[in-house]
Amino acid sequence: MMSRSSNPRASPVSATHSSPALSLYNTLTRRKEPLEPLRAGEVRLYVCGPTVYSWVHIGNARTFTVFDVVVRYLRYRGYRVTYVRNYTDVDDKIINAARETGEDPGALAERYIQAFEEDARALGLLAPDVSPRVTEVIPEIIDLIQRLLDQGVAYTAGGDVYFQVSRWPEYAKLSRRNLDELRAGERVTPGEQKREPLDFALWKAEKPGEPAWDAPWGRGRPGWHIECSAMSERFLGSPFDIHGGGLDLIFPHHENEIAQSEAAHHVALSKVWMHAGFLELENAKMSKSLGNVVQLRQALAKVDPEALRLFFLSSHYRSQLAFSEDALADAEKRMEYFYETLQRVDERLGNRGVKPGAVHGDPDVHLRAFEQAMDDDFNTAGALAALSGLFGQMNEYLDRPPVPDRAMLARTVTALRALVPTMGGVLGVLGTNPATWLERRRDRLVQLRGLDRERIESMLTERTEARQAKKFARSDAIRDELLALGVELRDGPAGTQWKVRS
Ligand SMILES: [Zn+2]
Repeated sequence: MMSRSSNPRASPVSATHSSPALSLYNTLTRRKEPLEPLRAGEVRLYVCGPTVYSWVHIGNARTFTVFDVVVRYLRYRGYRVTYVRNYTDVDDKIINAARETGEDPGALAERYIQAFEEDARALGLLAPDVSPRVTEVIPEIIDLIQRLLDQGVAYTAGGDVYFQVSRWPEYAKLSRRNLDELRAGERVTPGEQKREPLDFALWKAEKPGEPAWDAPWGRGRPGWHIECSAMSERFLGSPFDIHGGGLDLIFPHHENEIAQSEAAHHVALSKVWMHAGFLELENAKMSKSLGNVVQLRQALAKVDPEALRLFFLSSHYRSQLAFSEDALADAEKRMEYFYETLQRVDERLGNRGVKPGAVHGDPDVHLRAFEQAMDDDFNTAGALAALSGLFGQMNEYLDRPPVPDRAMLARTVTALRALVPTMGGVLGVLGTNPATWLERRRDRLVQLRGLDRERIESMLTERTEARQAKKFARSDAIRDELLALGVELRDGPAGTQWKVRS
């Protein structure tokens, strides 16, 4: 193995601290800023999680994948990351969904939390360090609301509690919306008792058949926004480093979180605000309310999870991304190319190991390009370009070796191969055994094309026998027959492998 002692990650925290290289776009300041954690070597991150009334939407899956990669890269850079992502398990949508199925709202929420965790695991999302639920932080929520009442920025009305926006001069500093325009556009919903149109509910008075908790101002349940203020404060303290979510949460959700937390504590809620762009389905913003429902679960039934990640990471996280079956098919082909390359590299290198010595060129150039892209506001598109460069070079060394020295060639390919788990690990891809991945891909294509697997395998057996008997005309004829079915063969040291042509 090539020595990796020259790797700049040898003492990442101190290196990062002496020269902050990582910059990220802060929605609050509308600028890219160097990452300067509030506590040395530590990043505290809060991401708004799903409201569990249905299966997770594919658009939300993109957002969660983005922050999954943010966490992975920060850890790679040597930071100790505390990652909190909540579950909204009390909400109008949950209550309505439970009414339709005749379930208890808590049971319905629990069912969808389990489903979310299954899907998240399938997509390769790291489990957050803490995944709090609203129902676990009711005492914290009540304390926070009481504090806002005590400070005169909230008021009770008929059992509800509202935040009074006009009492908080910094309101709209994140979204930079015009308050007069907002006021003109807002309407008080019948049944709400708020004083001004922009005021928002911190607590909703108990209604028959709805979950409710006791509070000093009367039984009820929390409004949506207050939960994230309470949970981030409990698990991360305030201020913390990064608050993330989808672009659609900037207003009003994140604006309201800021108002609640900062009016209560007079310190910033979060230093940096990061927002992931929309996933577009046929040029329409994908959201459950518009009816363009595509769930992560449906997507995972059709496409490989690593290919789905590759697709999500193919454009910058802040840009919109157009979702299409074609784009997913392309991502899966790309993944197939990566795994086929790894399989060829592993076959070529075998288990012999390599003697120490010089390598050809500078294999680490790919890792530097990768880090440079990721340091620039988590530019995963650039990182994938660096990964493609690495694979392109591995293929070149296999097909057209630029060095006659076989030992040096083996060392060089070994050094390049060693970068794959490093770069792939940050993106959450390429962690599967190549043969296993390629077999799964083949099975999916066999099913998709309606091919007869048994027939293919018996033809392969016949061909192997023909070859052993040196009946090459027969073996070539079988090869052509398979090719006509869309099945390609590759004769290698480990025998004949077959794939479905994509
Ligand atoms: Zn939130």
